[in-house]
Amino acid sequence: MSNRGKLTGSLVLLLLAAQGAYCAGELTREEVMMRAELTELWEPVPPEVHPGDAGSAPSDAIVLFDGSNLDAWKSNTGGPASWRVADGAVTVVPGAGDILTRESFGDVQLHIEWATPAEVSGESQGRGNSGVFLMDRYEVQILDSYNNPTYANGQAASVYKQHIPLVNASRGPGLWQSYDIVFMKPVFGSNGRVVRPATITVFHNGVLVQNNVEARGPTRFIGTPQYEAHGDAPIRLQDHSNPMRFRNIWIRRL
Ligand code: MG
Repeated sequence: MSNRGKLTGSLVLLLLAAQGAYCAGELTREEVMMRAELTELWEPVPPEVHPGDAGSAPSDAIVLFDGSNLDAWKSNTGGPASWRVADGAVTVVPGAGDILTRESFGDVQLHIEWATPAEVSGESQGRGNSGVFLMDRYEVQILDSYNNPTYANGQAASVYKQHIPLVNASRGPGLWQSYDIVFMKPVFGSNGRVVRPATITVFHNGVLVQNNVEARGPTRFIGTPQYEAHGDAPIRLQDHSNPMRFRNIWIRRL
């Protein structure tokens, strides 16, 4: 039974017991209304999770990159991921292609840290571009958006070409930044139509920038997005020809 099912069940039992006592004349209506314990739920007890210290993952997270290797990743052609690992970070090797997690995911909490090149080159979408794709399809844009005008629904922390971030919480070139993302996968009916769109919440450097927004479909560079039924899929990081760095990537299944 789901936690929600257990919770509803417990509450119903509790209220039935209280109602029973009330009906049996053991408690007055006023007593029922005044007894705090009648609305206390002691079960289910949430499992213990030890939060990570600064820079480390919570105890129940799947660590996707801890600075040492790309074992959890593959290249978009299926072979080993060939981005460069050094000094506790992984750097995009322009032209090497996107990398994807070996595992597939659906509903998740994802933490990822990234840095744009300290030396600024290019402008707009050509400056410090990458992206994190949930379920291999829904892109939260990564971009150097520090004093770098571009279309607002394509700047850092946008849901690319779908949702403008609430604010621009970008740090400057070369500085480490973070995304904490809550992603709930789309639900499809038996006819393949979407019955509940994917939803995305993003904190950029701890600042809320996407508040439970609905994806209109998989990210598209050109044209309007359209849902097509799909199952769980990897997380993908984009090679957009800029030597972006990443570190401390972990994920929790929800
Ligand atoms: Mg991108």
